Amino acid sequence: MKPRLLSGDRITGKLHLGHYVGSLKKRVELQHKYDCFVLLADVQALTTHYEKPEIVSENLRNVAMDYLACGIDPNQSTLYIQSMIPEIAELTVYFSMFVTVNSLRHNPTIKSEATERGYTQMYYGFLGYPVSQAADIAICKAELIPVGEDQLPHIEQTCKIIRRFHQLYAPVFPEPQALISETPRLLGLDGSSKMSKGLNNAILLDSTCDEVSEKIQRAKTDPARIQKHDPGHPEICTVYSYHQAFSPELASEIYDSCSQGTIGCKDCKKKIADRINALLDPMRDRRDTFSRNAKYVDEILIAGTQRARSAAKETMQEVREAMKINYF
Ligand code: ATP
Ligand code: MG
Repeated sequence: MKPRLLSGDRITGKLHLGHYVGSLKKRVELQHKYDCFVLLADVQALTTHYEKPEIVSENLRNVAMDYLACGIDPNQSTLYIQSMIPEIAELTVYFSMFVTVNSLRHNPTIKSEATERGYTQMYYGFLGYPVSQAADIAICKAELIPVGEDQLPHIEQTCKIIRRFHQLYAPVFPEPQALISETPRLLGLDGSSKMSKGLNNAILLDSTCDEVSEKIQRAKTDPARIQKHDPGHPEICTVYSYHQAFSPELASEIYDSCSQGTIGCKDCKKKIADRINALLDPMRDRRDTFSRNAKYVDEILIAGTQRARSAAKETMQEVREAMKINYF
């Protein structure tokens, strides 16, 4: 049996290049070596979108399509919908008995996301989403979790919860390990925060060639460079960080020519836009094929959800036994 890998995304919008380099790429590469579970996290999306649930339902198939376009193979990977596995909610409740509110309040990702979203008070669901994420991971006994840097505190919290469960009851779960990619945090086009669905600073995976070029045109560069021959500071340039992420073998050449003022921002941007378009081209082809067969995409989600649910039910049986709450 192959070890299990779990990854997922909040269903709050279409996926972008940050998701690709931070996590999707690894999922595609590892799907033959691991039993890959891919979670469409609609419940976790509601922690910030409970007032607009239609955003979640409108995007479910968009995200599924992004996965398939990226090369996640439905014959290798299990794609499933979080809200259709009620056992995850059940395990979240059991875990929540021994997680302190303080540990959640001090979670650095919760803190920064709350600040970014301007939350003056914390809702129970939002504050507790790392507990529900621990249940996502534990219930399918996942061992490897490919994630962006922002998720590290959550994986750490998951390990603590699992260890505590074992101490209190009995060993049931493997201890998961985060897998951080070569680009753990891709900057957004604004250059000031991570590329994110919510911040209008993203290049979506379903962008056309022109959209990619236009967006790259407005990406933040070194403000000190006004004329082409002004020496640049690639280390503070968003476009240079995209060269590092998407064409690492050319990055040092770009670094030198930018620092020496021998390449202008316009050419430098064209190079990276071409590169990103070359990456997205095969995704465009696959998206075309799948979008002509919407029924097949639904079948993939239904079959994946059934498979994940039976794994979840099995784990819950063990959880109930460990906790001595299996009455009959
Ligand atoms: P939201 O604003 O709804 O939270 P998001 O863009 O942060 O959306 P998530 O669904 O929260 O996306 O993240 C899914 C996965 O993608 C996580 O593993 C996360 O670390 C990774 N990820 C998201 N954005 C980036 C990024 N800019 N760079 C690297 N990894 C990222
Ligand atoms: Mg996020």
